[in-house]
Amino acid sequence: MDSTGSSDPRAEVARLAADLRAALERHARGGRWSAPGGASPRIAGSLEAPHVEAQAEAAQVEPAHVEVTHVEAAHAPVIDLAVDVPDAPPQRVRLTLAEVRAELGECTRCKLHETRKKIVFGAGSGQAALMFVGEAPGADEDRTGLPFVGKAGELLDKMIEAMGFARGDVYIANVLKCRPPGNRNPQPDEVASCSGFLDAQITAVAPRILVALGRPAANTLLGIDAPISALRGRFHDRRGLRVMPTFHPAYLLREPDRKRDAWSDLKQVMAELERLGVGPRPR
Ligand code: SF4
Repeated sequence: MDSTGSSDPRAEVARLAADLRAALERHARGGRWSAPGGASPRIAGSLEAPHVEAQAEAAQVEPAHVEVTHVEAAHAPVIDLAVDVPDAPPQRVRLTLAEVRAELGECTRCKLHETRKKIVFGAGSGQAALMFVGEAPGADEDRTGLPFVGKAGELLDKMIEAMGFARGDVYIANVLKCRPPGNRNPQPDEVASCSGFLDAQITAVAPRILVALGRPAANTLLGIDAPISALRGRFHDRRGLRVMPTFHPAYLLREPDRKRDAWSDLKQVMAELERLGVGPRPR
């Protein structure tokens, strides 16, 4: 019989494994990645744990209009402990953006690596309260390696500034890190290969609000399949994180009459950030 009073050897093994995982998590949070025996972090298919502080705060202050949307399991960085204990959930740690970028490397996980010029990882503040997520890089982004730098990027900059932020105050990323040829829509296998890195970026930045730009980003973040017109205008819940879907700036360039709707969405975001006490700083 062990110290917990259990006489089940499997329970004892499970308890020891849990202790090991907890120690490894503390070890990893301390900025050292090598687990005993040389195990390394990896991207694996599993549901990410939301940032603990953000989740706790979300539990304390619920917004007035949040739609609960089921989110399918996604990919997230985990430590592979190589401990085979039945029913023991995988343990996850929060990578920094630099660690996520290092994990991505010169990625060849999907066919888009064959045609890209540069990987477009993301840009902005690693502690941003507000994060924008688009669909995929375009030609300008592919050339520069930076997200949202073409005409649509210029409009996004104006939207961000109208909210009272500078581009460097927020974090901007895409679902895909490589440009689809001819700016075609992302294909499911490409999203499946790449979206785990977006999950890891979101976990690293731990924003208070996500703005999903366009249908592909909104559908990926929320794990659903619905037009942006049916999603925009209200907050959705993504594992305790508020998501505001709105129109993609490229769409707004083609349909400028919809800018009013997009601004309405962003005003809701601004009000929520103010309510959470993380609105833009006076300049
Ligand atoms: S789109 Fe993502 S998964 Fe595909 S090659 Fe680029 S970085 Fe890798």
